[in-house]
Amino acid sequence: MTSVKQPLWAPPVSIQPEPVLKIYNSLTRTKTEFIPKSGRSVKWYNCGPTVYDASHMGHARNYVTQDVLRRIMTDYFGYDVQFVMNITDIDDKIIKRARQTHLLEKLRTDTTSLDGNLISHVSAAFRAFLQNELAAGLPENERLSSTETDQELDSKFIRIADLVQVNKEWRQECLKRDEKFDMNFTSANRTLLALRNAENSLKAGDTSQEEAHKLIDGSQDILILFLDEQYKSTVTDPSLSRNLASHWESLFFEDMRRLHVRDPDTLTRVTEYMPEIITFVDKIISNGYAYESEGSVYFDTKAFDDAPNHDYAKLEPWSKGKRDDGVAEASTLTKFTRRSASDFALWKASKPGEPSWESPWGAGRPGWHIECSVMASAVLGENMDIHSGGIDLAFPHHDNEMAQSEAYHDCPTWVNYFVHTGHLHIEGLKMSKSLKNFITIDEILQKYTARQIRLAFLTQLWNAKVDFSESLMSGEVRNLETTLNNFFTNVKALVSQAQNNGVTSDGYHHYEDLEKELVAKFHQSQYTFRAALCDSFNTPEALDVLRDLVSRTNTYINSRGKAVNLGVVQNIARWVGKMLRMFGLGEGESSEIGWGQEGNAEGGAVNREEILMPYLRTLSTFRDGVRRLAIDKSDSALKDILALCDKLRDEELIPLGVALDDQEDGKALVKLAPPSDLLKARDEKRAIALAKQAKKEAAKEAERLKRLERLTKGKLDPREMFRPPNVKEGVYGSYDESGVPLTDGEGKEISKSARKKLLKEREAQVKLHEEYLKSEISKVG
Ligand SMILES: [Zn+2]
Repeated sequence: MTSVKQPLWAPPVSIQPEPVLKIYNSLTRTKTEFIPKSGRSVKWYNCGPTVYDASHMGHARNYVTQDVLRRIMTDYFGYDVQFVMNITDIDDKIIKRARQTHLLEKLRTDTTSLDGNLISHVSAAFRAFLQNELAAGLPENERLSSTETDQELDSKFIRIADLVQVNKEWRQECLKRDEKFDMNFTSANRTLLALRNAENSLKAGDTSQEEAHKLIDGSQDILILFLDEQYKSTVTDPSLSRNLASHWESLFFEDMRRLHVRDPDTLTRVTEYMPEIITFVDKIISNGYAYESEGSVYFDTKAFDDAPNHDYAKLEPWSKGKRDDGVAEASTLTKFTRRSASDFALWKASKPGEPSWESPWGAGRPGWHIECSVMASAVLGENMDIHSGGIDLAFPHHDNEMAQSEAYHDCPTWVNYFVHTGHLHIEGLKMSKSLKNFITIDEILQKYTARQIRLAFLTQLWNAKVDFSESLMSGEVRNLETTLNNFFTNVKALVSQAQNNGVTSDGYHHYEDLEKELVAKFHQSQYTFRAALCDSFNTPEALDVLRDLVSRTNTYINSRGKAVNLGVVQNIARWVGKMLRMFGLGEGESSEIGWGQEGNAEGGAVNREEILMPYLRTLSTFRDGVRRLAIDKSDSALKDILALCDKLRDEELIPLGVALDDQEDGKALVKLAPPSDLLKARDEKRAIALAKQAKKEAAKEAERLKRLERLTKGKLDPREMFRPPNVKEGVYGSYDESGVPLTDGEGKEISKSARKKLLKEREAQVKLHEEYLKSEISKVG
């Protein structure tokens, strides 16, 4: 019994090995194989926003793209990701914005009437703005000096305004000098207008608060800078920055949710990590890579770079030595306290009017870069798999983050893979936070759906520069969305039709060469799709795979007709839908805790009514109509029933999102689709039919007019046709008995050929006249 053995089994040999995930790593500037440090768990830190203003398209590009990468890692590759993101809720920009908003608000409430004082205040602000801000874009000879009188200043500005209007090249030159030129010019122009209006109001004796506020509002961009310059040290309330930051933070997350960006797994705020930041900075000092100077602490880039196991600026070693933009504002103050220009602040001694925290080095606040090092280390430990952020942050922010953390942990590698999302250009225009001509997420969502925006980003590589243009949205994005919509609608209609018919067999298996080819194509597509995503998340290629598979499946459906193998088609449609949802393109993501709900749970009663009633009402109305017609038994009953059927299809079901496509076999194909799409399609169809009808009617009308013209012409008795007033007096002299001229006005005989022509004309009129007489008789008859 034991002597009988199973035959030898040989392990299979792979003919198409599974592709390996490679990620474009900014630390090598190549695609490198992704190796998580521990099993399938992935520690990931993403630099979050500084919250001081509305989120714009630059944010959308960055965070939607990060979200796509994160979804591919978790939902497609199945990694256990911990995604950590910070919120910068204390920072120069936040403090400044909070202070400026407060000062302007205070001026507004303190101003009860319009007076010369306020006007001269705004004038002074205008003058300072022209000299300090607008000047940066102007050529030397147009710049404004402090010696000019107010009138001279005005007329000089008007000259500039003229040049801006008429001379495009001149304006471009200004923009080259200073990219904020347009924005500054607009602010100045608005201010001048507000000033003029205020002066006129004052002259006319209107000193109302309303007029005063008009002046403040019209000049606020300029006024805010002026007020800040004068009063910044008087504002010390730390709750101003806190309130501003939390206001914009909640709006940021609202925008992100509207874009279907998942919340981070762990959210960290700088102001909540002050003790950790102070300990962190302290340890960098004791490790020998930072020093204290006049209440501030600086990172010692030289000491760090010289250490045998450390390198400064791993991402952009060629940028080493360029000044840290974070301290540019206060460069004159800090220049002499730093040992080297590339040293950057870990801790900043607080200036008057700034929120501050107590530290071993005195009252102050953290530098910008330190927060990410501290919070990422606090949550993820001394090493992480992935760090992400916009490409703008690579240097100095990310290089400084890495240096600080490697100095703190005294480790050679803090981040294994650094991924940077590419720039966004809107119709060729680079978006930048410092400019006001940015498109907010709220604005863009009024124009396109979250899905369309995400599709636009997916059609481009995550680390490439994206050109976001009208033509991209109305071309590739719209086409792709329509193709997918049509595909799903068709397959769903086929499926529901089959369900309606119940389980039947026509005696054939419907799995022939066409089906085998399609299934082979499906599996190959799944492989290519994976290969594309393994190739550093190549989403444009992955979308091409889906598009191609959909097109092949459509061809199959069309060629098979009624004999289509629905199982095959359904599997493909399910997988395509699953991949689209994986990219975050689907609706209604459920993150329910627990077992989930069964479809027909008790609570469903309310929903059932809500969902079914509109359809039932339509059905009932239709039934009423058919019944009434049947009872009335009128002659036109059949015609009226058909009209009711058309009305059901074209008027009643379409707003409910139901399309009935009449088929040859007399059974309509039922489709569920968004009502707006159906309405649009119906209206387009109607417009075409109307145009056709109009054309037909126009032709008919032309025919009628032609006939009318003939009849009018025919009214004329042929005997009278060559006599005045039907010809000019004196053209002919004498006529024969049928009214055809014999001589001309001068008594000369009509030539033979001319007479022949006249006879021909007469013949035609005889015919017309007969036609006319006939129509007159038929009228009488
Ligand atoms: Zn960061």
